[in-house]
Amino acid sequence: MSYDRTNVFARILRGELPCKRVYEDDYALAFHDINPQAPTHVLVIPKGEFVSLDDFSANAPSKMIAGFVRALGTVARTLGVVESGFRILANHGRNANQEVPHFHVHIFGGRALGPMLSRAG
Ligand code: 5GP
Repeated sequence: MSYDRTNVFARILRGELPCKRVYEDDYALAFHDINPQAPTHVLVIPKGEFVSLDDFSANAPSKMIAGFVRALGTVARTLGVVESGFRILANHGRNANQEVPHFHVHIFGGRALGPMLSRAG
């Protein structure tokens, strides 16, 4: 799947759409999800054109992968969820209902998060 430069996260990265920014560095941008599923629900996205984890893990430079993972940890600490606990999640493709075709990791926290997967379906 080729990268669609009109996707909503690409537009946020270019500053064409606003976001409630939590953290930013050379490799990543983190901002609050527009439709939060937990008291803390933040999205962390790489500053590069990657469709999914599959694309990112195969094609991003190692320096960017390391920077992105470091940013994930920094964001979790910044949000204050390390001690109480949090969950990270990345949806890939149809079975996972990936809505936005720019790789992103969700960080959820602020309450007990329940079972790892929905039992529906
Ligand atoms: P996915 O299903 O692709 O893993 O999740 C996409 C997430 O992006 C959803 O949780 C959705 O609420 C969030 N989202 C979609 N559009 C916007 C937007 O314009 N701004 C922000 N902050 N979040 C968005």
